[in-house]
Amino acid sequence: MNLIFLGAPGAGKGTLATLLSREYGIPQISTGDLFRAAVKEGSELGNKVKGIMEKGELVPDSLTVELVRQRLAKADAGGGYILDGFPRTIVQADALAGFEQIDHVINFEIDDQLVIRRLSGRRVCRSCGAIYHVDNMPPKVEGKCDRCGGELYIRDDDKIDSIKNRLRVYKEQTEPLIAYYRDKGLLREIDSSRSPQHSLEQIKGILE
Ligand code: ADP
Ligand code: ZN
Repeated sequence: MNLIFLGAPGAGKGTLATLLSREYGIPQISTGDLFRAAVKEGSELGNKVKGIMEKGELVPDSLTVELVRQRLAKADAGGGYILDGFPRTIVQADALAGFEQIDHVINFEIDDQLVIRRLSGRRVCRSCGAIYHVDNMPPKVEGKCDRCGGELYIRDDDKIDSIKNRLRVYKEQTEPLIAYYRDKGLLREIDSSRSPQHSLEQIKGILE
């Protein structure tokens, strides 16, 4: 099953992709995670995208599409996958359609106020990438990852100016994908304003 998770930053795509990936045994492919890994490694790609990401702007389409194309060519993506954070522009979506067949596009619906609240409370594990939230999903020990004991931090792009910029970029460049996939008959909507468990039930309802 080839899935796309679509929605504003903070809508819960990453959290749900992790949950669903475990349940269905298909990989979660997050372009944000791939770019963050490249930045951490200090690779050529990482150096190119670091400043762009800190501001909450989008990485150029050509770089992003190439990254995803290479990732999807790996063996573990052969039995299905969840694309989390890709495509984010019409150009990316058109490129993807040229080399992959998508089964469902899940649109995570949520309003801006809630997005801001969620993102500003988000904490991420520096070692394994696990996601927590100070209100909804706090770690057992403050500042420490339950899974691996790693240090939790606030992403640079989860600071308030970046959050507002990311929302603006989302509305301008990514929101048009809702109509794009609706026209193709692939769009499925879920209410993403409640708990991860509530979102998970809705998605399973769509897939089964
Ligand atoms: P968010 O929480 O905003 O969904 P992500 O972790 O998905 O964040 O992405 C973080 C950053 O990585 C984005 O703000 C952007 O700079 C870059 N990025 C991720 N996916 C894409 C994409 N498909 N196209 C362009 N840039 C991307
Ligand atoms: Zn961890």
